[in-house]
Amino acid sequence: MKRRDILKGLTLLPLASGLVSKAASIGETTSRPLKAPGRDLFKELGVTPVINASVTMTFLSGSLMLPEVLEAINSTAHDFADMYQLQDKVGAKIAEMLQVESAMVTSGAACAILLSTAAAITGTDPEKIKLLPNLPGPRAEVIMQKTHRYLFDQAVTTTGAKIIEVEGAEEMEKAINERTVMALFFNAANKSSISHSDFVAVAKKHKIPTLLDAAADVPPVENLFKFQKIGFDLVTFSGGKMIRGPQSAGLLFGRKDLITAARLNHSPNEAPIGRPMKVNKEEMFGMYAALKAYIERDHKKEWEDWLQRTKHIGAQLESLPGVKTETVVDPGPANAFPSLNVTWDQNKIKIKPKEVVKALKDGTPSIVANGREDHLTIGVVLLRPDQVDVVAGRVKSILQQAT
Ligand SMILES: *Cc1c(COP(=O)(O)O)cnc(C)c1O
Repeated sequence: MKRRDILKGLTLLPLASGLVSKAASIGETTSRPLKAPGRDLFKELGVTPVINASVTMTFLSGSLMLPEVLEAINSTAHDFADMYQLQDKVGAKIAEMLQVESAMVTSGAACAILLSTAAAITGTDPEKIKLLPNLPGPRAEVIMQKTHRYLFDQAVTTTGAKIIEVEGAEEMEKAINERTVMALFFNAANKSSISHSDFVAVAKKHKIPTLLDAAADVPPVENLFKFQKIGFDLVTFSGGKMIRGPQSAGLLFGRKDLITAARLNHSPNEAPIGRPMKVNKEEMFGMYAALKAYIERDHKKEWEDWLQRTKHIGAQLESLPGVKTETVVDPGPANAFPSLNVTWDQNKIKIKPKEVVKALKDGTPSIVANGREDHLTIGVVLLRPDQVDVVAGRVKSILQQAT
């Protein structure tokens, strides 16, 4: 490679000034651009790129990171960092932003649930940290409301703890004993027999740490601040949902002693239970940049943009006879944002919503949307601006062809 080409490649990298001449003198292996121009890895590997007209889902790679996040990742990829120091500094900034004592970046909300439970069991005791999940003696107990049991509570039992189900504040108080280490509140549960504040009050009375899982519960942005104010000791959010950080990152924040203990149970320490849930430098910088960008975003404008999208797609589809659309807002707390419901006269347009979903998925580009018996739902919040018309056009043409 000629020196001229090397320098051309370097301009693709957001390098600090002064590094250019140094890198060029080291040689081409260290100065190759991150992405060769025009290289399409989706194509190279035969992976189908998907348009997400649904909600954030782990199997569909979460959300798309915004330019601020990609910039944070690219601009920090060239240097090593001491991971203890990085977690210290990023954690301190996140704690400041969220108005809590302490915070850390985890590999996701599920990891945060596991680390919180581990922290509640071990504290800072190195012997216990080393033995987890095989501590001698009776199993530690974590209290949950019966109606809050969900798939992710396996992250609790992975530590060796067992879950004690309760209904109502009175039963919760009775269930607390010397083996109780934590009480977990699933924020998006359909039903609760204990309110947030009663849950916190009972736990505080008996000095039991509380964790609230609000993984998918922004927007609204206020939720990032709400639950620590109610008094939860720990709160977790996914990084890779609507905060739009790296999908393999999450936030755990709250009480300092618990975050300290959670960190001792986590990478970069070599042995503990959380070591396989490693978070690297790029995710940490990326998570920080994503959270900052999310908090600073114009949320009102973003909401209006989403409504514009549903209106725009709706108008295109309603130009077909027999098609009706309605903008609906999920009541939340998870996925509380607008999307578009589409219904049609199935005597005139002879295709079922689920068949439209399949046609969208099997077409090119592949589009993931949701269908029920009587309606199709088009999610708009995860579409790139250029994909809004693509989705509208495809749905319209599928319906048209069934006429
Ligand atoms: C998505 C989700 C999780 C898991 O979050 P990750 O960041 O993917 O680990 C946990 N709890 C709830 C309620 C979720 O919605």
